[in-house]
Amino acid sequence: MSYVKGLKCRECGKEYPKEPLHVCEYCFGPLEVNYDYEKIKRAVSRDIISKRQPNMWRYRELLPIDGEPAVGFDVGYTPLIRAKNLAKALGVKELYLKNDAVNYPTLSFKDRVVAVAISKALEFDFKVVACASTGNLANSVAANAAACGMESYVFIPYDLEQTKILGTLVYGTNLVAIKGNYDEVNRLCSEIAGKYGWAFVNINIRPYYAEGSKAFGYEIAEQMGWKLPKHIVVPMAGGSLITKIWKAFKEFHKLGLIDNLGTKVYGAQATGCAPITTAVKEGAELIKPVKPNTIAKSLAIGNPADGFYAARVMRESGGWGEDVSDEEIIESIRLLAETEGIFTETAGGVTLGVTRKLIEQGRIPRDESIVVSITGNGLKTQEALAGRLTVSMTIDAKLSDFDELLKKQNKVYDAKD
Ligand SMILES: *Cc1c(COP(=O)(O)O)cnc(C)c1O
Ligand SMILES: [Zn+2]
Repeated sequence: MSYVKGLKCRECGKEYPKEPLHVCEYCFGPLEVNYDYEKIKRAVSRDIISKRQPNMWRYRELLPIDGEPAVGFDVGYTPLIRAKNLAKALGVKELYLKNDAVNYPTLSFKDRVVAVAISKALEFDFKVVACASTGNLANSVAANAAACGMESYVFIPYDLEQTKILGTLVYGTNLVAIKGNYDEVNRLCSEIAGKYGWAFVNINIRPYYAEGSKAFGYEIAEQMGWKLPKHIVVPMAGGSLITKIWKAFKEFHKLGLIDNLGTKVYGAQATGCAPITTAVKEGAELIKPVKPNTIAKSLAIGNPADGFYAARVMRESGGWGEDVSDEEIIESIRLLAETEGIFTETAGGVTLGVTRKLIEQGRIPRDESIVVSITGNGLKTQEALAGRLTVSMTIDAKLSDFDELLKKQNKVYDAKD
């Protein structure tokens, strides 16, 4: 059963049928999935949802597929961790990490959007699935396409991290590296989508694809005991995830699943690619595109498709936008690992770095609940730490060498006898 009425233009409100469309033919505004909330309200409750399997399909009435998912059965319901050590390091009272670094199967939040997009592409009877990617989407499209036996084409900027490239090729996809940045890859992909009619998950299937991100928000609300945090910090590339987390919170409120909607939403970018946070800081309506130059490659979108809406979420919720340097990204990756035992990728370093900055600026008060969105896994962006961490203790396999080492470290441990 489907709870989707159709698509609706985010700008002029014109309605469209449930088809692989993404732009309004009247005003060129982006299309969004339009649900029958009255019907959903009759179908779900806290109790019904709580009893379902721990994956993102527990919110299936709020996801835009008509039948059963075709792929990604185990995606989502990742841990929400009370981070006491990190809270202490930052000097705050109540800090949580939503950890999609361990999302299934490719270790980033992109598995959520891809599970919806590929399931929808199959409902639409597409034979080829494709994407323009900054890395994590490439991994996820290739893996999930393999899992459901679909032909796939993945387009990336040529200079991505090695693990993101290998972690795409291994699934046997057609990986095409483009001599250009993401924005150039994306422009080419729009032309290819037009010419060959493939299901580009983040272009012509985008309205459906983007809805998958809402599960990240639903899970936070449920895992906090059916309430929302006071503050949430979210990394931004195209700006889709942040708008969908906000949509998720508003939907849960509309459906009566949570009582209050009082979360301030903060967007995080790298200073080397900060078109959205710059607009927020300057109070500008329009997002000015930039040429990305940062180690946070997964967030390196200079001309963000949802930048305008992302900025509006920050304004509307009373949040803010901030960015951090590559050096601060690396420090934050290490801080998270050393305090909580979680290795995040550069995007997570951006999010934590910005959280730190907002706390120091006094924008996020120290005594209110904060959720930090960890969206990807550090094993995929090891280059970021290259030269920073080296093995400093290499010895022969001799006990006397080890004793010597402890002595050099000025560490004293009593021998057993
Ligand atoms: C894609 C990505 C994001 C940002 O997603 P948008 O929805 O494009 O803003 C954040 N974190 C990671 C790890 C990503 O791969
Ligand atoms: Zn329109």
